[in-house]
Amino acid sequence: VRRANLALVLNHVAERGPISRARIASETGLHKSTVSSLIGELEELGLVHEPAGIGRVPTVGRPATPIALASTTTALGLEIAVDGARAGIEDLTGEVRFEAQLARDLRSSDPGPVLDEVATIAREAFAFARSEGLRVIGAGIAVPGLVGLDARTLLRAPNLGWGEVHVADEVERRLGLPTGVTSLSNEANLAALAELWDGVGRDLTSFVHVTGRSLGIGGGVVIGRELYRGSSGFAGEIGHMIVDRDGVVCACGARGCLETVAGLEAVRRAAGLPAAPQAPSETALAEHLAALATAGEPAVLAAVDRAADALGVALSAVMNVLDVQALVLGGALVPLCPWLIPRVRGVLGKDVLASPLAGFDLRTSSLGALAPTRGAAAVHLRAVLSEPWRVAEAGIAATA
Ligand SMILES: [Zn+2]
Repeated sequence: VRRANLALVLNHVAERGPISRARIASETGLHKSTVSSLIGELEELGLVHEPAGIGRVPTVGRPATPIALASTTTALGLEIAVDGARAGIEDLTGEVRFEAQLARDLRSSDPGPVLDEVATIAREAFAFARSEGLRVIGAGIAVPGLVGLDARTLLRAPNLGWGEVHVADEVERRLGLPTGVTSLSNEANLAALAELWDGVGRDLTSFVHVTGRSLGIGGGVVIGRELYRGSSGFAGEIGHMIVDRDGVVCACGARGCLETVAGLEAVRRAAGLPAAPQAPSETALAEHLAALATAGEPAVLAAVDRAADALGVALSAVMNVLDVQALVLGGALVPLCPWLIPRVRGVLGKDVLASPLAGFDLRTSSLGALAPTRGAAAVHLRAVLSEPWRVAEAGIAATA
């Protein structure tokens, strides 16, 4: 009961803070002395504090000091993507405290050296955390592929050219971290969770989030404010929905997958633009395409329309099956959304059976390319909110 109450009070502070102990008591129905002792425990765990500068809430008698989430408890998000590695530190209040990126062309790469670089960028993040007095309670790793139900093993990432890689074990070993403090997830699933918790999905109970990448297209399905993982953990592979049986062969081996038409590199190729000598970051490529579209470049506009039509076909199928409240376009598709959204909306209007009846929404992600690392960190921060006592057991801070 005490543990449940600890989580109850912490979540109340997360949702309503800064808030006085007296208001927590009246709003949760807990006794005032119970709230005070629970707050004391949460302060000791480093999860809440009395923020300086907010001032005391004036009341009759003893002044009430407001309680807020402490911003010193953080988690690390790491991402391995086709265009490089990213790291971000997010604190319990949802603030991004640190961001770093290593631009590398990781297509058909060798896992070992890539994991060395991921460890390097993680060490940079830990050094920043130490210098700022932040405690890192866990690390999530986002990968562009299928992840085992153990949330530690990558099984297959066609665009990296990787088969089975024990990513969580390898990262923990390189960083000297205790086993189990890192977790591995599919990047598109993490992006969907980030939008659910901190982005345009906050007001939604069900949506499908589409992450555009330089080569791939990922999907995350949220139903009842939970990620739908599927029976083996592989749900949401929208990028491999076949939109053209006679199309080009995909990295997965099938022909005419959505990502062979609507991935950024596919759009670039269809527009007849040369490949950059070094693969640019996906954000740079997306912005380059958006600039050419703004300038009215006909080949680029035609390629973007073709991508929008393919997205429309795939998303109509998704909508006909799942009847979710909204579809969200994210990742590197964001800069192209001004062109994609009206055209995708047109296809949905024609192809979704319920379209005049159901008021579904088509939205642009608010987190864009940062969503996977945000989600990777947030998974660990959310775990603290639901089981705050576990923070005492979390061991990254001591070793990193
Ligand atoms: Zn495919």
